[in-house]
Amino acid sequence: MEQTFVMIKPDGVSRKLIGKIVERFEDKGLALIEANLCRMSETHAEQHYEALKDKPFFPDMIAFITSGSVFAMIWEGENAVRIARTLIGSTNPVEAAPGTIRGDYAKTIESNIIHASDSIENAAREIALFFPAGKIAV
Ligand code: ADP
Repeated sequence: MEQTFVMIKPDGVSRKLIGKIVERFEDKGLALIEANLCRMSETHAEQHYEALKDKPFFPDMIAFITSGSVFAMIWEGENAVRIARTLIGSTNPVEAAPGTIRGDYAKTIESNIIHASDSIENAAREIALFFPAGKIAV
């Protein structure tokens, strides 16, 4: 069964959107396997966003993602990676469709509420970074 990594960013946590966001994934039929409310270290954030390290916005993005608590989750189900990307919507909330999480709750690309892995390979990598002990579905 496919697993993906989803993370509510500090803006989503501070706006108290955890419940509404979890409900959307549950309503869609994915299964919550693991969740953790925690603060990312700078090292962890840099590893998580390694592919973007040469982008001009990288330092600001690391500062933002480590500025408060995040809510990290593993969701499981058939096509979980693609389904999660569809639920969160386009990276830039200006273009994100209404009905998607970013389309409904976010206004700017810097504060776009939520992350979801963009491939099966990145899901495995991001899950291992956050949940190194792993977790078997119950
Ligand atoms: P996604 O989060 O949709 O997978 P990316 O992996 O391309 O998108 O980017 C990671 C995060 O970096 C985005 O969610 C967004 O918060 C931030 N970001 C992306 N592009 C920009 C940009 N041009 N300016 C500022 N922040 C950006």
